[in-house]
Amino acid sequence: MNSITLKAPAKVNYLLDVIRRRSDGYHDLRMVMQRVNLCDEITLSLTRAPGISVTCEKNGVPDGPGNIAWKAANSLLELAGTPQGVTISITKNIPVAAGLGGGSSDAAAVLMGMNELLHLGLSDQRLMEIGVTLGADVPFFIFKKTALAEGIGEALSAMPLMPTVWVLLVNPGVHVSTAWVYKNLQLTNRKELNKLPDSYHDVKDICSIFANDLESVTIPAFPVIAEIKNAMMQLGALGSMMSGSGPTVFGLYQNRDAAEQARKTLSSNTGWFAAIAETL
Ligand code: ATP
Repeated sequence: MNSITLKAPAKVNYLLDVIRRRSDGYHDLRMVMQRVNLCDEITLSLTRAPGISVTCEKNGVPDGPGNIAWKAANSLLELAGTPQGVTISITKNIPVAAGLGGGSSDAAAVLMGMNELLHLGLSDQRLMEIGVTLGADVPFFIFKKTALAEGIGEALSAMPLMPTVWVLLVNPGVHVSTAWVYKNLQLTNRKELNKLPDSYHDVKDICSIFANDLESVTIPAFPVIAEIKNAMMQLGALGSMMSGSGPTVFGLYQNRDAAEQARKTLSSNTGWFAAIAETL
């Protein structure tokens, strides 16, 4: 086998607490992260000649070493010490710079795929250690469970089992820089963290933990985010919130029909990206 095709799913944050700013410029976080089945598709093909090429037709996604998938492939080729190279073809279905973790998920898929193709036999734990050197959210996509993510997002533990639910994702297409959001976040001295429930039986239980500290920066600058949240709630969502540093807003619905109805309404005449997905 010298070729493999992988799905790289998006994520949403059910919870994003920013605890403190660290001296290294990162932030200590407490997040609950959930994968959803809106996926990029990635094909990796080993080549006899050395070198890595990345092709992706989506605007705003770099080719070459600027692409996080390139970096992921490079780290495993170096570790393998092989003279081979790889071509990486990415079909981008996850909106870019959207708070949905698309780049991190692509990198995680490449690490897992290269591990197979090169017969490296690396454990998930080892792949997660390599992943965190590429991006704080990369290990989560190798972990593959609904996670409580602490530290900068790399310290993962499994959340209690949650039911599969329907998610509507809406991206208004405004550009939000993650670095700008964190720079403008006003942190209180001591943040009280809510205790998280021990069990989750239905959509309402999941929505009960919804909170995202980054909304306090992003929403005043981009009121369209609040507009989408309100519209989702009016269209039957049991909870609606911004994911990560935005601008994507997601809502949880009781069933597929309700999510589909809301998707139709929110995508007509708005120019917004709107897709429904199921949690993984
Ligand atoms: P997060 O939620 O982790 O902040 P995000 O969903 O907001 O991530 P990404 O889609 O991962 O953001 O993209 C962030 C930036 O990374 C983009 O502006 C893009 O230039 C760059 N990038 C590098 N590689 C990729 C990739 N494979 N897919 C998407 N963006 C990439």
